[in-house]
Amino acid sequence: MPDPTAYEAMAAALARMPDPDSYQEVRALEGELAAAFGARRAVAVSSGTAAITTALAACGIGADDEVLVPAVTVVMTVAAVAAAGARPVFVDAAAEGRGMDLADLTSKTGPATKAVIAVHLAGRTDNIHDLAACARTTGLRLIEDACQAQGTTSRGRAAGTVGDIGCFSLKDGKIISCGEGGYLLTDDDALADRAAAYRTHWQSPAPGAPAGSRLGANHRLAEPLAALARHNLQRFPDALAQRRQQAARLHRAVDATAGLEPIAPADGEVPNGYSALWRVTLPEPRAFATRLAGLGVPNSVGTHRLTAAHLHPACSGYATGDLPRARATVDTLLAVPFTEHDTEQAIEQWALTIRQEAAAWKS
Ligand SMILES: *Cc1c(COP(=O)(O)O)cnc(C)c1O
Repeated sequence: MPDPTAYEAMAAALARMPDPDSYQEVRALEGELAAAFGARRAVAVSSGTAAITTALAACGIGADDEVLVPAVTVVMTVAAVAAAGARPVFVDAAAEGRGMDLADLTSKTGPATKAVIAVHLAGRTDNIHDLAACARTTGLRLIEDACQAQGTTSRGRAAGTVGDIGCFSLKDGKIISCGEGGYLLTDDDALADRAAAYRTHWQSPAPGAPAGSRLGANHRLAEPLAALARHNLQRFPDALAQRRQQAARLHRAVDATAGLEPIAPADGEVPNGYSALWRVTLPEPRAFATRLAGLGVPNSVGTHRLTAAHLHPACSGYATGDLPRARATVDTLLAVPFTEHDTEQAIEQWALTIRQEAAAWKS
Protein backbone atom coordinates (compact mmCIF):
# COMPACT_ATOMS: atom_id res chain seq x y z
CA MET A 1 0.00 0.00 0.00
CA PRO A 2 1.38 3.45 -0.87
CA ASP A 3 2.64 5.28 2.19
CA PRO A 4 1.32 8.74 3.21
CA THR A 5 3.97 10.64 1.26
CA ALA A 6 2.72 9.00 -1.95
CA TYR A 7 -0.85 10.07 -1.20
CA GLU A 8 0.35 13.59 -0.42
CA ALA A 9 2.22 13.83 -3.71
CA MET A 10 -0.84 12.58 -5.59
CA ALA A 11 -3.13 15.00 -3.75
CA ALA A 12 -0.77 17.91 -4.47
CA ALA A 13 -0.72 16.98 -8.17
CA LEU A 14 -4.52 16.86 -8.22
CA ALA A 15 -4.76 20.21 -6.48
CA ARG A 16 -2.61 21.83 -9.21
CA MET A 17 -4.97 20.64 -11.94
CA PRO A 18 -6.04 21.82 -14.40
CA ASP A 19 -2.54 22.91 -15.30
CA PRO A 20 -2.10 21.59 -18.84
CA ASP A 21 1.20 23.31 -19.51
CA SER A 22 2.98 22.15 -16.42
CA TYR A 23 3.10 18.34 -16.25
CA GLN A 24 5.76 18.71 -13.61
CA GLU A 25 5.31 15.20 -12.15
CA VAL A 26 5.39 13.61 -15.61
CA ARG A 27 8.53 15.54 -16.55
CA ALA A 28 10.24 14.67 -13.27
CA LEU A 29 9.26 11.01 -13.67
CA GLU A 30 10.72 10.97 -17.18
CA GLY A 31 14.03 12.33 -15.97
CA GLU A 32 14.18 9.81 -13.15
CA LEU A 33 13.28 6.86 -15.41
CA ALA A 34 15.93 7.80 -17.96
CA ALA A 35 18.55 8.04 -15.21
CA ALA A 36 17.47 4.80 -13.52
CA PHE A 37 17.73 2.73 -16.71
CA GLY A 38 20.66 4.43 -18.42
CA ALA A 39 18.67 5.80 -21.35
CA ARG A 40 18.98 9.28 -22.84
CA ARG A 41 15.22 9.92 -22.85
CA ALA A 42 12.03 8.56 -21.28
CA VAL A 43 8.49 9.40 -22.41
CA ALA A 44 5.66 8.60 -19.99
CA VAL A 45 2.38 7.32 -21.44
CA SER A 46 -0.92 5.88 -20.21
CA SER A 47 -0.17 2.14 -20.55
CA GLY A 48 2.27 -0.44 -21.84
CA THR A 49 0.04 -1.02 -24.85
CA ALA A 50 0.05 2.74 -25.53
CA ALA A 51 3.86 2.71 -25.22
CA ILE A 52 4.14 0.19 -28.08
CA THR A 53 1.64 2.02 -30.31
CA THR A 54 3.41 5.31 -29.57
CA ALA A 55 6.82 3.77 -30.34
CA LEU A 56 5.60 2.59 -33.74
CA ALA A 57 4.05 5.99 -34.49
CA ALA A 58 7.31 7.69 -33.49
CA CYS A 59 9.13 5.48 -35.99
CA GLY A 60 6.65 6.60 -38.68
CA ILE A 61 5.14 3.12 -38.93
CA GLY A 62 1.44 2.80 -39.77
CA ALA A 63 -0.91 1.84 -42.58
CA ASP A 64 0.56 -0.51 -45.25
CA ASP A 65 3.51 -1.36 -43.01
CA GLU A 66 4.29 -4.78 -41.53
CA VAL A 67 5.71 -5.40 -38.09
CA LEU A 68 7.28 -8.71 -37.11
CA VAL A 69 5.98 -9.99 -33.79
CA PRO A 70 6.90 -13.21 -31.98
CA ALA A 71 4.03 -15.72 -31.88
CA VAL A 72 5.17 -16.31 -28.30
CA THR A 73 3.56 -13.22 -26.82
CA VAL A 74 0.48 -11.81 -25.13
CA VAL A 75 -2.31 -10.28 -27.22
CA MET A 76 -1.45 -6.77 -26.00
CA THR A 77 1.64 -6.67 -28.21
CA VAL A 78 -0.45 -7.61 -31.24
CA ALA A 79 -3.22 -5.15 -30.33
CA ALA A 80 -0.68 -2.32 -30.07
CA VAL A 81 0.54 -3.01 -33.62
CA ALA A 82 -3.03 -3.13 -34.92
CA ALA A 83 -3.81 0.13 -33.09
CA ALA A 84 -0.90 1.79 -34.92
CA GLY A 85 -2.60 0.74 -38.17
CA ALA A 86 0.17 -1.71 -39.14
CA ARG A 87 -0.09 -5.41 -39.87
CA PRO A 88 1.43 -7.86 -37.35
CA VAL A 89 3.32 -10.78 -38.93
CA PHE A 90 4.00 -13.67 -36.58
CA VAL A 91 7.45 -15.19 -36.26
CA ASP A 92 8.07 -18.72 -34.97
CA ALA A 93 10.11 -19.44 -31.85
CA ALA A 94 13.77 -20.42 -32.00
CA ALA A 95 14.82 -23.91 -30.98
CA GLU A 96 14.16 -24.51 -27.28
CA GLY A 97 11.85 -21.51 -27.32
CA ARG A 98 14.68 -19.02 -26.87
CA GLY A 99 13.38 -15.89 -28.58
CA MET A 100 12.46 -15.62 -32.25
CA ASP A 101 13.74 -17.88 -35.01
CA LEU A 102 15.98 -15.56 -37.02
CA ALA A 103 15.67 -17.66 -40.20
CA ASP A 104 11.87 -17.46 -40.04
CA LEU A 105 12.16 -13.75 -39.27
CA THR A 106 14.40 -13.12 -42.28
CA SER A 107 12.14 -15.14 -44.60
CA LYS A 108 9.17 -12.98 -43.55
CA THR A 109 10.99 -9.69 -44.06
CA GLY A 110 9.88 -7.93 -47.23
CA PRO A 111 9.60 -4.40 -48.63
CA ALA A 112 6.63 -3.60 -46.34
CA THR A 113 8.43 -4.77 -43.18
CA LYS A 114 9.50 -1.81 -41.06
CA ALA A 115 10.11 -3.10 -37.54
CA VAL A 116 10.46 -6.11 -35.30
CA ILE A 117 9.19 -6.23 -31.73
CA ALA A 118 11.10 -8.38 -29.24
CA VAL A 119 8.94 -9.43 -26.29
CA HIS A 120 10.74 -10.17 -23.03
CA LEU A 121 8.13 -12.50 -21.57
CA ALA A 122 8.69 -13.47 -17.94
CA GLY A 123 11.52 -10.93 -17.80
CA ARG A 124 13.76 -12.93 -20.19
CA THR A 125 15.54 -11.22 -23.07
CA ASP A 126 16.62 -14.48 -24.77
CA ASN A 127 18.59 -13.81 -28.01
CA ILE A 128 18.13 -10.01 -27.98
CA HIS A 129 21.71 -9.20 -29.05
CA ASP A 130 21.55 -11.57 -32.05
CA LEU A 131 18.19 -10.07 -32.93
CA ALA A 132 19.60 -6.54 -32.69
CA ALA A 133 22.42 -7.49 -35.08
CA CYS A 134 19.89 -9.04 -37.45
CA ALA A 135 17.64 -5.94 -37.33
CA ARG A 136 20.64 -3.71 -38.06
CA THR A 137 21.64 -5.69 -41.16
CA THR A 138 18.09 -5.81 -42.50
CA GLY A 139 17.43 -2.13 -41.71
CA LEU A 140 14.49 -2.81 -39.40
CA ARG A 141 13.61 -0.80 -36.33
CA LEU A 142 13.92 -2.90 -33.17
CA ILE A 143 11.30 -2.19 -30.53
CA GLU A 144 11.40 -4.04 -27.22
CA ASP A 145 8.22 -4.96 -25.37
CA ALA A 146 9.93 -4.90 -21.97
CA CYS A 147 6.69 -4.65 -19.96
CA GLN A 148 7.70 -7.70 -17.90
CA ALA A 149 11.42 -6.97 -17.92
CA GLN A 150 11.94 -3.94 -15.68
CA GLY A 151 15.33 -4.55 -14.04
CA THR A 152 16.55 -7.42 -16.23
CA THR A 153 20.01 -6.82 -17.63
CA SER A 154 21.71 -8.53 -20.55
CA ARG A 155 25.47 -8.15 -21.03
CA GLY A 156 25.22 -5.18 -18.67
CA ARG A 157 22.49 -3.42 -20.68
CA ALA A 158 19.06 -2.79 -19.18
CA ALA A 159 16.29 -4.66 -20.95
CA GLY A 160 14.52 -2.17 -23.18
CA THR A 161 17.69 -0.20 -24.00
CA VAL A 162 19.19 -2.55 -26.60
CA GLY A 163 16.88 -1.69 -29.49
CA ASP A 164 15.66 1.68 -30.84
CA ILE A 165 12.88 2.01 -28.27
CA GLY A 166 11.96 0.01 -25.15
CA CYS A 167 8.32 -0.10 -24.02
CA PHE A 168 7.23 -0.59 -20.42
CA SER A 169 4.01 -0.86 -18.42
CA LEU A 170 3.21 0.69 -15.04
CA LYS A 171 0.08 -1.42 -14.57
CA ASP A 172 -0.45 -3.06 -11.19
CA GLY A 173 1.44 -6.35 -11.15
CA LYS A 174 4.46 -4.99 -13.04
CA ILE A 175 7.51 -4.34 -10.87
CA ILE A 176 7.12 -0.55 -10.98
CA SER A 177 3.47 0.42 -11.02
CA CYS A 178 1.02 3.28 -10.51
CA GLY A 179 -2.19 1.35 -11.24
CA GLU A 180 -2.22 2.12 -14.96
CA GLY A 181 0.56 3.72 -16.97
CA GLY A 182 3.59 3.12 -19.13
CA TYR A 183 6.73 4.67 -20.56
CA LEU A 184 9.21 4.27 -23.33
CA LEU A 185 12.98 4.61 -23.27
CA THR A 186 15.22 5.65 -26.17
CA ASP A 187 18.62 7.17 -26.84
CA ASP A 188 17.27 8.89 -29.96
CA ASP A 189 16.08 12.47 -29.36
CA ALA A 190 14.07 12.60 -32.58
CA LEU A 191 12.18 9.42 -31.67
CA ALA A 192 11.55 10.72 -28.14
CA ASP A 193 10.24 14.05 -29.46
CA ARG A 194 7.94 12.32 -31.93
CA ALA A 195 6.68 9.93 -29.22
CA ALA A 196 6.00 12.88 -26.92
CA ALA A 197 4.12 14.69 -29.71
CA TYR A 198 2.05 11.65 -30.72
CA ARG A 199 1.05 10.94 -27.12
CA THR A 200 -0.66 14.35 -26.87
CA HIS A 201 -2.44 14.75 -30.21
CA TRP A 202 0.74 15.99 -31.86
CA GLN A 203 0.43 19.25 -29.97
CA SER A 204 4.18 19.53 -29.37
CA PRO A 205 6.70 19.95 -32.20
CA ALA A 206 9.00 17.17 -33.35
CA PRO A 207 11.73 16.97 -36.01
CA GLY A 208 10.13 16.83 -39.44
CA ALA A 209 6.62 17.29 -38.06
CA PRO A 210 5.63 20.62 -36.53
CA ALA A 211 2.99 20.80 -33.81
CA GLY A 212 -0.50 20.26 -35.18
CA SER A 213 0.71 18.77 -38.47
CA ARG A 214 -0.59 15.23 -37.78
CA LEU A 215 -3.25 13.34 -35.90
CA GLY A 216 -1.99 11.65 -32.76
CA ALA A 217 -3.64 10.17 -29.71
CA ASN A 218 -4.26 10.89 -26.08
CA HIS A 219 -1.84 8.48 -24.44
CA ARG A 220 -0.87 10.92 -21.68
CA LEU A 221 -0.08 9.76 -18.16
CA ALA A 222 -2.12 11.63 -15.54
CA GLU A 223 -0.16 13.81 -13.10
CA PRO A 224 -1.35 12.06 -9.90
CA LEU A 225 -0.35 8.71 -11.37
CA ALA A 226 3.05 10.11 -12.34
CA ALA A 227 3.49 11.21 -8.71
CA LEU A 228 2.71 7.66 -7.57
CA ALA A 229 5.03 6.18 -10.19
CA ARG A 230 7.87 8.41 -8.94
CA HIS A 231 7.30 7.12 -5.43
CA ASN A 232 7.36 3.50 -6.59
CA LEU A 233 10.42 4.10 -8.75
CA GLN A 234 12.28 5.05 -5.56
CA ARG A 235 11.25 1.71 -4.08
CA PHE A 236 12.22 -0.16 -7.26
CA PRO A 237 15.59 -1.49 -6.02
CA ASP A 238 13.84 -3.14 -3.06
CA ALA A 239 10.99 -4.42 -5.23
CA LEU A 240 13.48 -5.90 -7.69
CA ALA A 241 15.49 -7.58 -4.92
CA GLN A 242 12.26 -9.03 -3.52
CA ARG A 243 11.19 -10.53 -6.89
CA ARG A 244 14.61 -12.06 -7.38
CA GLN A 245 14.48 -13.61 -3.90
CA GLN A 246 10.96 -14.92 -4.52
CA ALA A 247 11.95 -16.50 -7.84
CA ALA A 248 15.11 -18.02 -6.34
CA ARG A 249 13.11 -19.40 -3.40
CA LEU A 250 10.51 -21.10 -5.62
CA HIS A 251 13.17 -22.49 -7.96
CA ARG A 252 15.11 -23.88 -4.98
CA ALA A 253 12.03 -25.46 -3.44
CA VAL A 254 10.93 -27.09 -6.72
CA ASP A 255 14.47 -28.16 -7.65
CA ALA A 256 14.94 -31.60 -9.21
CA THR A 257 11.25 -32.33 -9.69
CA ALA A 258 10.74 -34.87 -12.48
CA GLY A 259 8.81 -33.35 -15.38
CA LEU A 260 9.90 -29.77 -14.70
CA GLU A 261 13.09 -28.37 -16.22
CA PRO A 262 14.09 -24.94 -14.93
CA ILE A 263 14.72 -22.46 -17.77
CA ALA A 264 18.13 -20.94 -17.12
CA PRO A 265 18.89 -17.31 -18.01
CA ALA A 266 20.45 -16.63 -21.42
CA ASP A 267 24.22 -16.04 -21.62
CA GLY A 268 25.11 -12.80 -19.84
CA GLU A 269 21.54 -12.22 -18.62
CA VAL A 270 20.48 -11.34 -15.07
CA PRO A 271 16.68 -11.80 -14.95
CA ASN A 272 14.46 -9.61 -12.78
CA GLY A 273 12.60 -12.49 -11.11
CA TYR A 274 9.27 -11.44 -12.62
CA SER A 275 8.39 -15.15 -12.91
CA ALA A 276 9.87 -18.47 -11.92
CA LEU A 277 10.14 -20.48 -15.12
CA TRP A 278 10.10 -24.15 -16.10
CA ARG A 279 9.68 -26.22 -19.23
CA VAL A 280 7.05 -28.89 -18.49
CA THR A 281 7.94 -32.31 -19.91
CA LEU A 282 4.89 -34.05 -18.43
CA PRO A 283 2.06 -35.17 -20.75
CA GLU A 284 -0.72 -32.63 -21.37
CA PRO A 285 1.24 -29.68 -20.02
CA ARG A 286 -1.62 -27.17 -20.47
CA ALA A 287 -3.91 -29.34 -18.36
CA PHE A 288 -1.15 -29.56 -15.74
CA ALA A 289 -0.82 -25.76 -15.66
CA THR A 290 -4.60 -25.40 -15.37
CA ARG A 291 -4.67 -27.89 -12.52
CA LEU A 292 -1.97 -25.91 -10.66
CA ALA A 293 -3.94 -22.69 -11.16
CA GLY A 294 -7.01 -24.39 -9.69
CA LEU A 295 -4.94 -25.31 -6.64
CA GLY A 296 -3.84 -21.71 -6.11
CA VAL A 297 -0.52 -21.64 -7.97
CA PRO A 298 -0.83 -18.68 -10.37
CA ASN A 299 0.74 -19.22 -13.78
CA SER A 300 0.46 -17.72 -17.24
CA VAL A 301 -1.05 -20.68 -19.11
CA GLY A 302 -3.29 -21.98 -16.32
CA THR A 303 -4.46 -18.68 -14.83
CA HIS A 304 -4.30 -16.27 -17.78
CA ARG A 305 -4.89 -18.82 -20.61
CA LEU A 306 -1.74 -17.69 -22.42
CA THR A 307 -1.90 -19.07 -25.98
CA ALA A 308 0.56 -18.61 -28.84
CA ALA A 309 -0.68 -15.37 -30.43
CA HIS A 310 -1.05 -16.84 -33.95
CA LEU A 311 -3.59 -19.33 -32.52
CA HIS A 312 -5.47 -16.76 -30.44
CA PRO A 313 -9.03 -16.29 -31.77
CA ALA A 314 -8.69 -12.49 -31.57
CA CYS A 315 -5.68 -12.65 -33.94
CA SER A 316 -7.28 -14.90 -36.57
CA GLY A 317 -7.22 -12.04 -39.09
CA TYR A 318 -3.42 -12.17 -39.04
CA ALA A 319 -2.94 -15.95 -38.89
CA THR A 320 -0.10 -17.22 -41.03
CA GLY A 321 -0.44 -21.00 -40.68
CA ASP A 322 0.88 -23.03 -37.79
CA LEU A 323 4.14 -22.15 -36.08
CA PRO A 324 4.80 -25.41 -34.28
CA ARG A 325 7.73 -24.34 -32.12
CA ALA A 326 5.88 -21.25 -30.86
CA ARG A 327 2.87 -23.35 -29.96
CA ALA A 328 4.98 -25.95 -28.15
CA THR A 329 6.94 -23.20 -26.38
CA VAL A 330 3.80 -21.64 -24.91
CA ASP A 331 2.03 -24.91 -24.18
CA THR A 332 4.95 -26.34 -22.19
CA LEU A 333 5.65 -23.14 -20.25
CA LEU A 334 5.18 -22.97 -16.51
CA ALA A 335 5.71 -19.31 -15.59
CA VAL A 336 4.74 -18.42 -12.03
CA PRO A 337 4.70 -14.63 -11.53
CA PHE A 338 5.13 -12.89 -8.18
CA THR A 339 3.68 -9.84 -6.52
CA GLU A 340 5.02 -7.94 -3.55
CA HIS A 341 2.25 -9.55 -1.46
CA ASP A 342 3.43 -13.15 -1.97
CA THR A 343 4.95 -14.27 1.33
CA GLU A 344 7.68 -16.87 1.84
CA GLN A 345 5.06 -19.21 3.31
CA ALA A 346 2.82 -18.81 0.26
CA ILE A 347 5.74 -19.55 -2.04
CA GLU A 348 6.74 -22.65 -0.03
CA GLN A 349 3.13 -23.83 -0.27
CA TRP A 350 3.15 -23.34 -4.07
CA ALA A 351 6.35 -25.38 -4.24
CA LEU A 352 4.76 -28.20 -2.25
CA THR A 353 1.71 -28.18 -4.52
CA ILE A 354 3.85 -28.18 -7.67
CA ARG A 355 5.98 -31.11 -6.45
CA GLN A 356 2.99 -33.18 -5.31
CA GLU A 357 1.03 -32.57 -8.50
CA ALA A 358 4.01 -33.32 -10.75
CA ALA A 359 4.60 -36.60 -8.92
CA ALA A 360 0.92 -37.60 -9.15
CA TRP A 361 0.43 -36.43 -12.77
CA LYS A 362 -0.52 -39.04 -15.38
CA SER A 363 2.57 -40.48 -17.00
C1 LIG B 1 1.46 -5.88 -19.29
C2 LIG B 1 1.98 -6.14 -20.66
C3 LIG B 1 1.60 -5.36 -21.77
C4 LIG B 1 0.54 -4.30 -21.71
O1 LIG B 1 0.71 -3.37 -20.71
P1 LIG B 1 -0.59 -2.50 -20.26
O2 LIG B 1 -0.04 -1.47 -19.35
O3 LIG B 1 -1.52 -3.44 -19.59
O4 LIG B 1 -1.18 -1.93 -21.50
C5 LIG B 1 2.19 -5.61 -22.99
N1 LIG B 1 3.10 -6.59 -23.14
C6 LIG B 1 3.47 -7.38 -22.11
C7 LIG B 1 4.51 -8.42 -22.33
C8 LIG B 1 2.91 -7.20 -20.84
O5 LIG B 1 3.28 -8.00 -19.84
